[in-house]
Amino acid sequence: MTAYEAVIGLEIHIQLNTRSKIFCSCSADPWLAEPNTHICPVCTGHPGVLPVLNRAAVEKALRLALALDARVAPVSYFARKNYFYPDLPKGYQISQYDQPLATGGALPLEDGRRIRIHRLHLEEDAGKTRREAGRRYIDFNRCGVPLIELVTEPDLRSPEEAAQFLERLRQLVRWLDVSKGHMERGHIRCDVNVSVRPKGSTALGQKTEIKNVNLIDLMRPAVEQEIRRQIEVLEAGGEIEPWTLEWDEHARVLRKMRGKETEADYRYFREPDLLPLEIDRAWLDEIAASLPELPWERAKRFQEEYGLTEYDARVLTGERALADYFEAAVQAYRGPAKAVANLVINQVLRLMNEQKLTWEDLRVTPARLAAMLQLVDAGVIHKNALKKLVPLVQARDQDPKAIVEAEGLAQMQDTAALEALCARIVAEHPEEAAKYRAGKTGLLGWFVGQVMRETRGRANPKEVQAILRRLLEG
Ligand code: ADP
Ligand code: ZN
Ligand code: MG
Repeated sequence: MTAYEAVIGLEIHIQLNTRSKIFCSCSADPWLAEPNTHICPVCTGHPGVLPVLNRAAVEKALRLALALDARVAPVSYFARKNYFYPDLPKGYQISQYDQPLATGGALPLEDGRRIRIHRLHLEEDAGKTRREAGRRYIDFNRCGVPLIELVTEPDLRSPEEAAQFLERLRQLVRWLDVSKGHMERGHIRCDVNVSVRPKGSTALGQKTEIKNVNLIDLMRPAVEQEIRRQIEVLEAGGEIEPWTLEWDEHARVLRKMRGKETEADYRYFREPDLLPLEIDRAWLDEIAASLPELPWERAKRFQEEYGLTEYDARVLTGERALADYFEAAVQAYRGPAKAVANLVINQVLRLMNEQKLTWEDLRVTPARLAAMLQLVDAGVIHKNALKKLVPLVQARDQDPKAIVEAEGLAQMQDTAALEALCARIVAEHPEEAAKYRAGKTGLLGWFVGQVMRETRGRANPKEVQAILRRLLEG
């Protein structure tokens, strides 16, 4: 296996989160809708109707193109891709062909290596066919939902890289508000082109195509299997044929679907019902100016500006809302950003995960998070109390200070009372005290534990330790 290298290129369809479809005003979010309720004569291809291009879909495609540093064509064209399929009522799909919306550009992997983009275009989705009890049902709700098709150059070299590319693209489209990016709902669908070649060779080997690798976790098993199969064929003196393959989830193997169709089969021609798509320069500049800092740029800044580790920076830029939340808390706190990062990652994200909370549900606001850290800094609470405090703030929707008072979470500030309590504990356990004095100093922890229990955790353990040591040794 090590004498070969894998070469992988992806063709990815991304469902845009516009309100309406690409050529009509039907809702573009048919998820969970009754079948055939989000349809009209345009998206079901009735004779005599005319498509009208949705400006919001073009804007979202341009946002992604610009974020990837692609060249946007001043003029591009829609084309008909003709094929027969029951869930394609028009008998053709409106897509882009010889002059796509954008070409070139790249998406960086974690290590900074840039995976080049070949092209990016707009098209409409087809409907869905469902098989049930020997019958086929057709739902046209998805017909005309806007898609971006993005094709990479064959720059990926392993299943891990391909999975990482897909994960980062998903992060980017969510970040840019271009797509909801729910892979399990088919918002991102990926076809994977795979070939192998002897290491050191620069020529491309014959490729096969794996259809619908639509979950990140599928990438590795499916692509690994195909790489292994191709190497075996070549090692046995055979030739790779340009198959189209499909993952069988039940058997967890790849199956051959068909030989490859060629482009000539589609009889592409320019769509006569739509004008050329001319992109206004000023509009494009406006979109470019409105692009947010990209997730990887922001992660880099988090490391430089706040001294975060690469890992923390990556977690905190997984989603734009999370990155915004973190930075708002840092601003409000004014103390070390590392403390904010720890609290967000260890407590807030865990809470959200456990209770399945969205950002709208979250009552632990950045200001409240900052207030908690300030209570720790002022010595009012011990940092161990945060574990209790964060869920309480969420449950009661109150400021941390009020909860600390109501719940008696504050540390004992009364040093005299603490000294008295420690003295009492030592006096009540003469045997242990004697053992300690005879050299069994490990018992100090046991004494601290007694005091912490009596104070229900409200004493500062460091202070307790110091007092006890003085009492036992003095
Ligand atoms: P096709 O004509 O079969 O559609 P394209 O040249 O349009 O092929 O490429 C489709 C996808 O396949 C792209 O993502 C491209 O990067 C990838 N690809 C092309 N050649 C190879 C190859 N030899 N090995 C792996 N991937 C490839
Ligand atoms: Zn419609
Ligand atoms: Mg092609």
